Amino acid sequence: MRAIRFLLILLAALLLPVAAGAQEDKALAHARDLLRSTPLIDGHNDLAWEIRAQTQAPMSVAAYDLRKTTSGMTDISRLRDGRVGAQFWSVYIPGEIKDSGFARVQLEQIDIARQFIARYPEALTLATTADEIEAAFKRGRVASLIGLEGGHAIENSLGALRAYYDLGARYMTLTHNVTLDWADAAQDTAAHHGLTPFGREVVREMNRLGMLVDLSHVSPAVMGHALDVSEAPVIFSHSSARALTDHKRNVPDSILQRLPKNGGVVMVTFVPSFVSTPMMEWEHLADSVGDGIRAAVTDSAEARAQMRAWREAHPRPRVTVSDVADHIEHVRKVAGVDHVGIGSDFDGIEQGPEGLEDVSDFPALFAELIRRGWSDADLRKLAGQNILRVMRQTEATARRLRAEREPSTKTIQELDR
Ligand SMILES: [Zn+2]
Repeated sequence: MRAIRFLLILLAALLLPVAAGAQEDKALAHARDLLRSTPLIDGHNDLAWEIRAQTQAPMSVAAYDLRKTTSGMTDISRLRDGRVGAQFWSVYIPGEIKDSGFARVQLEQIDIARQFIARYPEALTLATTADEIEAAFKRGRVASLIGLEGGHAIENSLGALRAYYDLGARYMTLTHNVTLDWADAAQDTAAHHGLTPFGREVVREMNRLGMLVDLSHVSPAVMGHALDVSEAPVIFSHSSARALTDHKRNVPDSILQRLPKNGGVVMVTFVPSFVSTPMMEWEHLADSVGDGIRAAVTDSAEARAQMRAWREAHPRPRVTVSDVADHIEHVRKVAGVDHVGIGSDFDGIEQGPEGLEDVSDFPALFAELIRRGWSDADLRKLAGQNILRVMRQTEATARRLRAEREPSTKTIQELDR
């Protein structure tokens, strides 16, 4: 008897991992299937900057061949494996540039994005509306949208804002990491304690144009003011939940609670330090250790060696797909399932969480949520239906406002004296 029981236990021990593996494959197959019939719309990918920053051939779209496996996190074959239906290609520009106009760099980034979108017609197609996203998805192309990252790109000009819209830009992150003349950044000093009167006019003009108001990177006070002013739903193209990871780039619950009334969507990001508290703390420590070494050691090779030694003694904490799923579930809990989306930040990060390492890995996140009991209806909302709804509402608001009022000619000098 005892021998049979022993054999049964042994058999169970051998078969359990097989069963778990089978379930794993089932969830992944289910995720891939689901994303074949509903577009996965990612809110943020920094491929355009990755191309600009290439050391061999900076800014060369031709040299960065998306038909091959690239050195970064994005190429055509991995977009297909990842079942990406639509991508907001971020045209990020740093706010720290002081020697040249921001608008020039912004136009160059739009040029790079439009070049790579046009270069691979078998895979990518420019999209500027919700209908165009759905049409591209039906034809098996990745609908390609352009999102401005950093309101400094308009150089305090509503005319420049309108010109960017005409070039295809469909969201603008009001700030990047630097506080502007009219809005505070989350990771910079609060010069205005929210939006200035001109900043509010920028939001109103974005509503009139039909450009999504993106609140990733802004301070909580700016988030609140934008929600007060905006007549269209807002988005967060790449932010996670502050209640879980107290990073300044994340969205506080007080703002999440306002989303049902506004209609907006938080596109949860994969940035490891935004979704894991140990990772955030490790990164802060690594930054300050790095600053200390650079201040003390003038020889840069020696400084790099010391930093390497520190990293070897202090390995990065593990961050996984499960951390990202926790943030998605928190946004669902506080704001509701109609207000959550995906905003990876691939190619804007050094490395992704384990299991979410490049654009081919999106199905793994959906598989994780399937294992957590998410329904297909809710997964479709998360994947793209929520952001499609936000786009349609934004387009309808723009039609109404364009009939009601002319383009704004207000200036910052006039409004923010
Ligand atoms: Zn960003």
